[in-house]
Amino acid sequence: MYADVIVDISHKNIDRPFCYRLPSEFEGSIGIGTKVRIPFGKGNNERCGYVVALCDVPSDGIGEDRIKDILGTAEKSVTADENLIELAAFIRNRYGSTMITALKTVLPVKKEIRKREEKMIVAKVPLLTLEQGITEAEKKKQRAKVRLLRELLSHDKISYTLVTGKLNVSSPTVKSLEKDGFLTVEVNKEPVLPFGFRNMQDEKLKLSEEQRDIVETIGKDRAQGIYGQYYIHGITGSGKTEVYMQLIEDCLKEGKQAILLIPEISLTYQNLNRFYKRFGEKAAVMHSKLTDGEKYEQFMKARSGEVSIMIGPRSALFTPFMNLGMIIIDEEHESSYKSETTPKYHAREVACKLGEIAHATVVMGSATPSLESYYRIRNGELKVFKLTKRLTGGSLPDVHIVDMKEELAAGNKSVFSRKLKNLMEDRLEKGEQMMLFLNRRGYSGSILCRECGEIIKCPHCDISLSEHRGGILMCHYCGYTTEMVKKCPKCGSAKIAGFRAGTEQIEESIHKIFPQAVVLRMDADTTKKSEDYENILSKFAAGEADILLGTQMIVKGHDFKGVTLMGILLADMSLGNNDYRAAERTFQLLTQAAGRAGRGDTPGETVIQTYQPEHYAITYAAAQDYEGFYEEEIAYREFMDYPPAGHMLCVQFYGPDWTRLSRLSIGMTKEVKEKLPAFAEKNVKQIGPGKAAIGKKQDIYRQVVYYKNASVEPLIAIKDYMEKRMTEISVMKEQIQFDLDPVNTF
Ligand code: ADP
Ligand code: ZN
Ligand code: ZN
Repeated sequence: MYADVIVDISHKNIDRPFCYRLPSEFEGSIGIGTKVRIPFGKGNNERCGYVVALCDVPSDGIGEDRIKDILGTAEKSVTADENLIELAAFIRNRYGSTMITALKTVLPVKKEIRKREEKMIVAKVPLLTLEQGITEAEKKKQRAKVRLLRELLSHDKISYTLVTGKLNVSSPTVKSLEKDGFLTVEVNKEPVLPFGFRNMQDEKLKLSEEQRDIVETIGKDRAQGIYGQYYIHGITGSGKTEVYMQLIEDCLKEGKQAILLIPEISLTYQNLNRFYKRFGEKAAVMHSKLTDGEKYEQFMKARSGEVSIMIGPRSALFTPFMNLGMIIIDEEHESSYKSETTPKYHAREVACKLGEIAHATVVMGSATPSLESYYRIRNGELKVFKLTKRLTGGSLPDVHIVDMKEELAAGNKSVFSRKLKNLMEDRLEKGEQMMLFLNRRGYSGSILCRECGEIIKCPHCDISLSEHRGGILMCHYCGYTTEMVKKCPKCGSAKIAGFRAGTEQIEESIHKIFPQAVVLRMDADTTKKSEDYENILSKFAAGEADILLGTQMIVKGHDFKGVTLMGILLADMSLGNNDYRAAERTFQLLTQAAGRAGRGDTPGETVIQTYQPEHYAITYAAAQDYEGFYEEEIAYREFMDYPPAGHMLCVQFYGPDWTRLSRLSIGMTKEVKEKLPAFAEKNVKQIGPGKAAIGKKQDIYRQVVYYKNASVEPLIAIKDYMEKRMTEISVMKEQIQFDLDPVNTF
C-alpha cells in the first residue's frame, strides 16, 4: 500500500502530495486524514504530514526503490473524515492557498484543555418561594435580583459567569440572594452546560401551515434520498428558528447530526437558551471566545457522538460529525460568513459543497437573501419557501422617508429632521421607547453634495470615489485619481464634503434637545468587553432607558416589544460606499432597521433620513419590498458583470518595496494576459492594477487588480497560473493573495 501525504510546511514549492510506502503494520490504523510522521528532503528530517489518499501503486511515478516509508502516526494525531479533506481540496482550488493551510482550516487542531473551575448558581427554594422573591424585589425595584430570580424559575442551575456577564447581575447581588437563602454557589471541576433544566421539551410549538409545509417537504425529500438545498425567505419573527429546530429534531431522529451556522453577534443568551431548552446536552456551541483547547474538546465530543448539534459562526461548519445530515445557515446574507483571511472562503458556498459531499440537506434563511442566493433561487437551484406572517403579532411600521436636502433648505442644520424630532418628543411624553440608528458603514470618505445628494463617482467603474489625504479622490477598483472637487458637478453647490458625524456627537445633541431623556449608546467604544453588548441590550429591554442609540449592532436580531419609533439618521452612508454591494447592504440594513419598531401591541413608526429619497435601495426598503429591490439590483449587476451575474477575482499584491511590487503586479498581469489562452478566449475583463484602498499598511505596500468574467473557470485559471508563477520566479518578500467574489473591496 502507498499513501499520498501533504507535508506540514506551508510553502508553495512543496504544496503537492508526496508518495510514501505504508508499512503493513500500519494498515488499518493509518487512513485518509491521519496525521503521520515521515522522513522528508535530502536529510530525511522527520516531519509531519496528512494522508490525503491511499493507493496500490505509487502515484508519483518514481521508482519503487526511492519511495520512503511512513514512520508512524504523529503523536497528537486526529483522524479526519475524508469529507473534510475533500472539502479542504475544494477550498484550496477555489479560493487559493496552500493545501496545508486549507487542511488546517478544516481539521481540528489538537490542543490541551486546561480544566476550568466552573462556579454554578443553584436554586435552593421551591418555585413558589422564588415567585414571592420576585414580587418583593419588583416592589423594591431591584431589577438585577428580578432578572436572576426569573432565570432560576426555568433553570435550576446557571453558570456564575453567565449571570454576572450576560445577565448583568453583580456579585454583591448574588451574595445577598445567597444570604437570604434563595440560592447557593457551587464549584464544579468539570466544565458543564451553562444551564440546568427544570422542564425540557416544553417549548415545542404547534407549527403554522406555512411552517409545516417546509418541514414536510424537506422530510419527504430526505425520505427519498434527496438531500437538496432550500431557502426560507421570511421576515424576522416569522418562525424560521422554530422550523430549524423541527428540522434538526427530525434529523437527529434519523440518527444523523446537524450544524447550525449563525452570525457571532446572534449568539445571545436568549437564542442559545432556546436551543438548550429543546435539545439539552445534545447541543454545543462554538464561538470565537473559546480557547483552542475548548474548541478541540467540542469537536471531539461531536466526533464521538456525545454532541449532535453544533451551533456557531463560520468555523462550526468544520465540525467532524460522523454522519452529518443537515446544515442550516441562518441570516444567510451576513457578510461575516466570508472569511477575511486566506483561504478567503465563503461559508455559504463551502456549506453547499459539504452538503454535496456528505449527502446533507442545506437550508438557508433570511428576511433579505443575498443577491447570490436569490439568483440561484431564480435559476431553480434552490427551492424557496416563504414565511409571510409574523407569529407573535405586531404589524409592520409606518415608514416616513425624509429628504434631508429639504431640511437644509428650510434652515434645519440639526442631525434630526423636524419629523423625527416631533415623533421623539411624542414618544418621550408617552413614555415609549425608541431606537436611533446611525448608519456608519462606508463613511470612510465618500463625497456627497448636501444640496442635491449627488455622490462623486469613478467615471470608469460606477463606484464612489474615496477621499484620501492630500485632497485626492481615488477609485479603489481601478486606481483612477482626481483632485478633490470644490463644487458639485451637478448643481454647482459648494456644500460638498465627506461626513464626520459619530454616535458621540449625536448623543450630545440628544442631551441638548431632550435633557430629560435617558440614552444608552452602543458602538465600538461602548462594547469593548465581551459582555457589554448584552448588558446594554438587557438594560434597554428592561426599560431602563428611553433611547437606544447605536451603529449597525443595534439593528441585528433583537426584539424589543416596547419600541414604537425607529429613527435612521443617515440612510445614505452605505450608499456612498466604494463597493458594488453598497445598495444591497443599504437595503438589508434599512429593511432590518425599519422592521424594528412596532413589535409589540402598539403600532410603530420608522423615519428614514436621507439625501437620496428616490434611491431604489431606500424606497424598496421603506416598502419592505424585496422582489422589487432584487429586480433593479440584478439588472445593474448584469449590466456591469458584477457578481452574481458574473464572477470577480481580486488579486492583492503585498511587498515592502514599492518599485519591486509595482513591477511584479504589472509584470504578472501582463503575462496572464499574453500567455493564458483562457484570458482572450473567454474575454476576461481586467481592472487595474492599481493602488489598494489602503495603499500602504505597516510599511507594506499593497497593489490590487480585479478580473471579471461571466464564468468562474477562467478566473480560477488566472489564480492557478499566478500561484504557479510565484513559485517559479524569485520573489523576495512579495506576496500575493486571492479573493474570489469579494465581499469587501480593497
Ligand atoms: P425567526 O427565526 O423567523 O425570527 P422565530 O422562530 O424566532 O422566528 O419565531 C418568532 C416568534 O414566534 C418566537 O417568539 C416564537 O416562539 C414564535 N413562534 C414561532 N413559531 C410559532 C408557532 N408555530 N406558533 C406560535 N408561535 C410561534
Ligand atoms: Zn449638488
Ligand atoms: Zn474606477
